[in-house]
Amino acid sequence: MADYLLRATAGGGNIRAVAAVTTVTSEEARRRHGAYPTAAAALGRALTAAALMGATLKEKQSITLRFAGDGPLGGITAEADSEGRVRGFVKQPKVHLPPNAQGKLDVGGAVGRNGFLYVVKDLGLKEMFTGTTELQTGEIGDDVTYYLVTSEQTPSAVGLGVLVDPDGSVRASGGYLLQLLPQTREEDRELLEKNLAELGAVSWAIDRGHTPETILAQVLQGLDAKILDKTDLAFRCKCSRERAYRTLATISPEDLRVMHEEDQGAEMTCQFCGEVYRLTEEELQEMLQGSGES
Ligand code: ZN
Repeated sequence: MADYLLRATAGGGNIRAVAAVTTVTSEEARRRHGAYPTAAAALGRALTAAALMGATLKEKQSITLRFAGDGPLGGITAEADSEGRVRGFVKQPKVHLPPNAQGKLDVGGAVGRNGFLYVVKDLGLKEMFTGTTELQTGEIGDDVTYYLVTSEQTPSAVGLGVLVDPDGSVRASGGYLLQLLPQTREEDRELLEKNLAELGAVSWAIDRGHTPETILAQVLQGLDAKILDKTDLAFRCKCSRERAYRTLATISPEDLRVMHEEDQGAEMTCQFCGEVYRLTEEELQEMLQGSGES
């Protein structure tokens, strides 16, 4: 089943909710980067967080989350736009740690608890919107919640989960984001908390067959929920052969000549998706001639 997210409101419009299933997206990211289970879970959570926050943006806007902790992953970057295109990478994908005290994949240990979450929003304005907060646990969900509460002053609850199969592939992935306006009634807050506790870990819920519809139905039970819209989600990179070619065109003729002589061609790997772009010797030769120095 393809990934998607749903946006909803509840509690007389005071509660905004987004729920997403991202199993296909997280699995594609894992496969593209060859990520080991702990790294795959961390990346999947970060991509899900970006997708959920992307759902709060307007058309043509995008968001980048960068988790820079002191753990062995060396940092995670996740991007999403309002149209549901998601991409991202971990610096060191070949990381797998022993399970944590709860017997779960030790995402916090892999990300590291000391460091920062950097948020950059491209709102289509001249200047990017940026925000930075300290990492709380490195578990991603806690860190995003803390960012939303302290930096954007929006009381929020974020649940993220990725379940990795024994064969190393992503079995279930998804999450929810709840944002509460100040007018939210106390009894609604209490009901939300109770509903969230009943849902439990979101990765297990998705593995049991939960969809964005049923997650929202569970979480917003008794809160007069209204579904607003649906957005398809997918791992989509912005790279292309043409872009890779343009980047190579900015390299100095001398460096191009070295690439040409040493490697009989040139290769560029996209950091975000792992796609490899190879330029043949002929194409390189053409570029060298184009620069007028061949
Ligand atoms: Zn790419």
